[in-house]
Amino acid sequence: MEQSIARLREIDTEIRLLEHISALLGWDQETYMPEQAIAERSQQLALVQSMRHRRVTDEEVGRLLETAGVSDDQPKGDPALSPEDGAFLRALYREYARNAKLPNELVMRIAEKTSTGQAVWAKAREADDFGRFAPHLVEIIELTLEVAELIGYDDHPYDALLDEYEPWMKSADVKRIFDDLRGDLVPLVQQIGEAEQVDDSFLMRSYPAGEQEAFGRRILSDLGYDMRRGRLDVSAHPFTTTLGFDDVRLTTRYNERYFKTALFGTIHECGHGFYELGFDEGNRGSILASATSLGIHESQSRFWENVVGRSRPFWERHFEPLRETFPSQLRGVTLDDFYRAVNKVEPSHIRVEADEVTYSLHIILRFELELGLTSRKLSVQDIPEAWRERSRELLGIVPERDSDGPLQDIHWSMGGIGYFPTYSLGNLYAAQFTDALRADMPDLDDRIRRGDFPAILTWLRDAIHRHGAASTAGEIAASVTGHELDPSHFMEYLRTKYSDVYGLS
Ligand code: ZN
Repeated sequence: MEQSIARLREIDTEIRLLEHISALLGWDQETYMPEQAIAERSQQLALVQSMRHRRVTDEEVGRLLETAGVSDDQPKGDPALSPEDGAFLRALYREYARNAKLPNELVMRIAEKTSTGQAVWAKAREADDFGRFAPHLVEIIELTLEVAELIGYDDHPYDALLDEYEPWMKSADVKRIFDDLRGDLVPLVQQIGEAEQVDDSFLMRSYPAGEQEAFGRRILSDLGYDMRRGRLDVSAHPFTTTLGFDDVRLTTRYNERYFKTALFGTIHECGHGFYELGFDEGNRGSILASATSLGIHESQSRFWENVVGRSRPFWERHFEPLRETFPSQLRGVTLDDFYRAVNKVEPSHIRVEADEVTYSLHIILRFELELGLTSRKLSVQDIPEAWRERSRELLGIVPERDSDGPLQDIHWSMGGIGYFPTYSLGNLYAAQFTDALRADMPDLDDRIRRGDFPAILTWLRDAIHRHGAASTAGEIAASVTGHELDPSHFMEYLRTKYSDVYGLS
């Protein structure tokens, strides 16, 4: 058994090296690669990714896992195994089993279909024509359902899809959580809508990119992002990518006519980066030095972006320097004006621009449609109408154009069905973790005001980051907060914060 585990660790190291090489190629493609290099880059990426896939699904891995006595992804509690080996085998088994169930031929077909699907989606969005994308989406849904059947599930095909992004969570859990959330959010949004709207027009004055960048870097340094183990660059769509245990890179984008985009985007990615840089040193180069779920990942970005970055104490610390950087743009603007402006709530069509109160309603809409599509209760051609109906119910507004509706997100064209819920779960986890943090650190606001971010980061590392994939999301929630995911923490956070921002009674 010991020999099997040692060999599996060698293979694991190779797989992670290939993943990091692939991430480097991808990072470069999105940041500095010259335009003409795209064809060769696609070949390079395809080669490295297929090498990785072969390694992951190698028969040798299956044999070794069997010898080590692992035949499912449940925690064994095998007394012969150390907790480290148990967690390692569980994570590796999951990766092997999921991938080995999918024949190479199907993986290739999906890669092809989603690659053309993305190109068609981009054109359809530009032309604002859902009908153009629909036939491709039909095929993508069929392939996705094929995957679900091969992976297997108990209740709903969606379970098999969700499991890729949020391991061990079931669609029935998400549905129960989202039903609760929806019941509380819709009236809160209405109540805010009846209050006097916040003025954020000064955020749309001209903010030169160079000064935005300098200010963003100052914030990253204040938060304690370690630039000896990372970078900040520019890309069309902001992301965080891990090129190694000591190399986690962030990107952002600058909009000179809208101040919020770059700064809050940078803080968001910084939160993702903190998570990726916080794994246990002992798991360097292993599958355990990776995220346990996308919901947990997003909880870290949302925590830094919203709970810290959009808090009053944070701006008590940073508003003066900001006003010195942008004296004409912020002339006559008070700290209170600024704080309220960056927390403005307003139902809108585009998910990525949504505020933290309405954001989850965008996700609930998509989740409901995805459930309908994967149970064949909703057909692709009926999506635009179903979208408008739900948008009216949830947000009180109806998009006039498909590009403001079902064509706005890239996910479906990439076959990423089951991904959306993790964004919302991130908000919920973040609020629940914050309550636990506050219980341990009653002077949290004061620490934010003083810039004692190392203490906050240390707490997060110890409670969440260091575990990586060694603990499941559910195990982390239970150990940090004493119970499973519960949306009431998030609702309480919103009610308190927005009663203040909007003077609600
Ligand atoms: Zn994120």
